[in-house]
Amino acid sequence: METEKIEPTFVGENNDLVFVVPKELFMMKLSTEQKLDRETAKEYSKYLRGTFKGFQKANKTKYQNGDNNKTETTPEFWTEFENLAKEKGIELIGYTPVLENYIFKNLPIVGKNAIILGMEMDWEKIKTAPSVHVSIEAFRVYYDLGEKTIELTQFLQEKGYKTEAHHPFGGKLLFTAHAVAAGLGIKGRNGLIISPEFGPRQRWSAITTDANIPETKKVDLSDMEDFCENCGVCIEKCLGGATYEEPIEKIKGSGIFTHIDRSKCMESLLNNNFCSYCLKVCPQGNK
Ligand code: SF4
Ligand code: SF4
Repeated sequence: METEKIEPTFVGENNDLVFVVPKELFMMKLSTEQKLDRETAKEYSKYLRGTFKGFQKANKTKYQNGDNNKTETTPEFWTEFENLAKEKGIELIGYTPVLENYIFKNLPIVGKNAIILGMEMDWEKIKTAPSVHVSIEAFRVYYDLGEKTIELTQFLQEKGYKTEAHHPFGGKLLFTAHAVAAGLGIKGRNGLIISPEFGPRQRWSAITTDANIPETKKVDLSDMEDFCENCGVCIEKCLGGATYEEPIEKIKGSGIFTHIDRSKCMESLLNNNFCSYCLKVCPQGNK
């Protein structure tokens, strides 16, 4: 029953982490000087609507657990899960226990562990930033990764594990902190996760579950961190002048750092076909 009350595993308590639905983005209009043919305009509209619907659908997955209470897993189970995810076009998969400090304030989470999923945004599209092609690509990946995250959530639920999907357009936990904890990348100077595979060119989603997860990968990404330290191109070239030279921790000790002035970035997203210039200029994603 969708109205049934669910006992959460965690409820976010960090006062510095407040969830905001970026509603403005659903009103976004593409720039008229870049005319789209009928087919492409239809595709774009499908991705926008699909993202919005998927976001709502993901929020309901916690009600689909019935009496699920299994926790035991095997390495073979995770091989099957990863193969399925890869068949669905999800290239990056990592595991970490849920980080309680990085759950949005007052939001309930079902599941003690997090599976972090990343899907590439195509370089051929991103290198045209800012352009309509980037905007379409951004929503294609939000939509596609969202649908695939829900399907993988249902797979775990059908196997008997209590599980919840967190849509890439907005989950109840901070994807960046969890992606770093899962060994999938580093936090770049602009706060985006930089992965060894695609630099900043991916979208993230998460699945929280009571299934016991494989051990978190141990990876040494210190070369990438050193590179970032000496680079700063994303700050220098930020199209909206939104990226701070030094991140700001509003509440001392909260562990939540702001790297970007949200309102300036949003203005650039709305005025520049979803901007995403920072994805183009990062040398670690230029491949
Ligand atoms: S999307 Fe544009 S304005 Fe926002 S951080 Fe990236 S380059 Fe800057
Ligand atoms: S542009 Fe440079 S500083 Fe910014 S995330 Fe990429 S490598 Fe790091």
